[in-house]
Amino acid sequence: MREQIIGMITPTMAVMFSVGFLLLWKRGTLGNYVLAFAAAYAFFAIGFGVTHLFDTGSPYVFHTTQFFYTLSTASGIWGVARRVDQPPHLGVLLIIYALSAGTLALAILLSDDLTSRLIIVNMGYGVMYVVAVMSLLNAHRRDTIDKIVIGMQALLAAQFLIRPLLTLLIEGSIPAAAYRESLYYSVLNLSLALLSLLAAMVLVAACIYDQIAAVRERAELDLLTGLRTRRAFEQDVIAYLERAKQEGVPVSLVVADIDHFKAVNDIYGHQTGDRAIARFGEVVRNTIRDTDIAGRIGGEEFCILAWNCDGNAAVALAERVRNRFGASAIEGMPEDHRLTASFGIAGRAEGEGYGKLFARSDAALYAAKQGGRNRSIRDERSGETSLIASVAPKASWPKAANS
Ligand code: GH3
Ligand code: MG
Ligand code: MG
Repeated sequence: MREQIIGMITPTMAVMFSVGFLLLWKRGTLGNYVLAFAAAYAFFAIGFGVTHLFDTGSPYVFHTTQFFYTLSTASGIWGVARRVDQPPHLGVLLIIYALSAGTLALAILLSDDLTSRLIIVNMGYGVMYVVAVMSLLNAHRRDTIDKIVIGMQALLAAQFLIRPLLTLLIEGSIPAAAYRESLYYSVLNLSLALLSLLAAMVLVAACIYDQIAAVRERAELDLLTGLRTRRAFEQDVIAYLERAKQEGVPVSLVVADIDHFKAVNDIYGHQTGDRAIARFGEVVRNTIRDTDIAGRIGGEEFCILAWNCDGNAAVALAERVRNRFGASAIEGMPEDHRLTASFGIAGRAEGEGYGKLFARSDAALYAAKQGGRNRSIRDERSGETSLIASVAPKASWPKAANS
């Protein structure tokens, strides 16, 4: 009786973790992987409950336990893999389960001893966790918490591959009737209780980490454009420039400003102005590469740090943004009226920090405005500015707007 009660501690704990992850999933803004963690602990509780409460001599109990433990393992692996955008390899896990369940059925037929059955099922889970570790090792994300999650999966793999062999080496065979009194059963209970607790702590930490990162990321994004806020952009630019200096990677800064924007607000209203700003942000997001960063640094002013990009390539980037924005229809404005923007570009010179680089790009932008707008001008290192592209706006402003 006492053993029965002690044995219920682990599944009860698992149920609590399951509910905890469920709440975290419902309340937070994280993906379905949190739900998968909840499912993993629920299946684990069922599997543990079955093996603990029913007669382990019965082949059905073994198969049922293995079925639920496999569901638990697969849910957990699906969760940790999806969390870092890696494939969970469910097909491979299914094959491992099929092989393991088939061998288990054979072992049950051939012998009454539990040893072979225990080794077979444990090997199955161990190999599944090895698959998980291999999948996670391919992930791009490698923060400390991600390394801890990988370590946890490796520990689970080792636990399932090594523990049964070690305990059975010491204990020899286990007749079904003596299962609950065996050393194996005590070690199993203790190790599963500790590891499920440890895994839950790691997964909860990972979820909290992700939630904080999501909140911070949202706070750093400008709502209208989805680009970085000025503060976030400047913080990131300083870090990027430092890295560029260390790694010797060329970077360029593009500063952009929508032309005659006051008139948009005056003639078509602030809401239409907002739509134009949002459209510019969309064009920038769709044009830059993943390694570039962009921010809205003022009302209708934008800045792009182009990574691994010299001045010439950055002019081409600015021109792509200029042409795409110039071709965009803005809701609330006449169909034949297109907005334009001006661009100032500067490539980072040796030893140059953000202040100087920005000042040169901004001076180039000023020159673009002075030169007639709707163009990109690059600031050369020598200090003179060179006109790279200039296209006279075809759809001109209504007279009132230009006056
Ligand atoms: P230029 O071609 O010289 O850039 O002329 P401009 O009219 O665009 O001049 P300026 O850059 O000085 O004007 C910026 C205007 O943008 C002023 C402000 O009313 C407007 N603005 C700033 N933030 C917002 C915003 O969030 N929404 C809208 N709709 N307008 C904004
Ligand atoms: Mg402007
Ligand atoms: Mg402006």
